[in-house]
Amino acid sequence: MAPPRLLRLILLLAATHLAGATGAISAPNPTPVRAPPTRPTATQLPWTTARLRGLEFVDLRDVGTKLGWKPLWNTPGRKLTLSAGEGNGIVFELDGRDCYLNGIRIFLSERVAGARDTLWIAKVDLVKTIAPLLRPADHAAALPAPPRLIVLDAGHGGTDPGKYNLKYRLNEKDMTLDVVLRLKKVLEARGYRIALTRADDTRFSSNPIVDLQRRANFANQAGAELFLSVHFNAVDPKDSHRVTGSETYVLTPQGMLSTSDQEKDDLTDAAFPGNRQDLANAVLGYFLHRQLIDRLQTSDRGYKRARFAVLRFVNCPAALLEAAYLSNDDEAARVAKPEFRQEIAEAIAAGVESYSAALQALRPAAK
Ligand SMILES: [Zn+2]
Repeated sequence: MAPPRLLRLILLLAATHLAGATGAISAPNPTPVRAPPTRPTATQLPWTTARLRGLEFVDLRDVGTKLGWKPLWNTPGRKLTLSAGEGNGIVFELDGRDCYLNGIRIFLSERVAGARDTLWIAKVDLVKTIAPLLRPADHAAALPAPPRLIVLDAGHGGTDPGKYNLKYRLNEKDMTLDVVLRLKKVLEARGYRIALTRADDTRFSSNPIVDLQRRANFANQAGAELFLSVHFNAVDPKDSHRVTGSETYVLTPQGMLSTSDQEKDDLTDAAFPGNRQDLANAVLGYFLHRQLIDRLQTSDRGYKRARFAVLRFVNCPAALLEAAYLSNDDEAARVAKPEFRQEIAEAIAAGVESYSAALQALRPAAK
């Protein structure tokens, strides 16, 4: 049994699929491969656990051993890599709220804990985020087929301009629509069917929550198999010189803290329609974020979790992308150029392609 083989195969499929996707049109689906025998999922495996900070944690060495990623200490008791060979590795650090899978920053709900000379990860983070990424095959039964119909949502619109950049006179609503129209073309050329929540400068309601709900409802009524909402970000002026880069958000699973949360709030323990897609979202977020960071050569602000209304009410796998910071003048100067907006669209499309390839690799081969 060589567990990392499947992940390598997925990455290889994604890479070969993408290699042809930069210019020429490539086939929407790679050759299916046979799914391996079903193993227990991360929820079912008998982990070495400890009760820490009032929560159940799992020994990260045990995570590596059981998932087929070899545990290797970078610094004993402080920094641990789980390695699948051939450059595939995930790195955890004591007290870190994030980890790095193949160099891509992934946020956790709980900080990595130290006890008994080892490092521990909260079981919710293992089950909902890490295990589906390290061993997608174990979760094949809960993962959907690759999407065919994708709903794209250009953030904001009409009387809601979103964020803005004064120097270059950029409104978020205009930049999101431009990227979404480019993305539609790129994805259609690759065989996906695309519907847009908006194709012009409008909004769905003057009430922001109703506006977001209507975007999700549109996707649900259209029968979307993937929903992507495109945004640009901003921070307070005092931080604008130092904060740049891309963020990818998927819905926070029930009971977990969102990335911006320090403690539980009213929504933490609620289950939303979007939570039925937790496992698919975990995989989707990684592949989208990886392509954004690799292709845009931008700062990695992290693959994060949030309970944005537009993600809560959508029935299919869904992500919200904050492609760049309009509050930073250098980054806004990039966004102002059509070539960069095309690169954003291509990066998102590449993320969709690698997500689709990963799902396709888990489908049983046609007889
Ligand atoms: Zn926005």
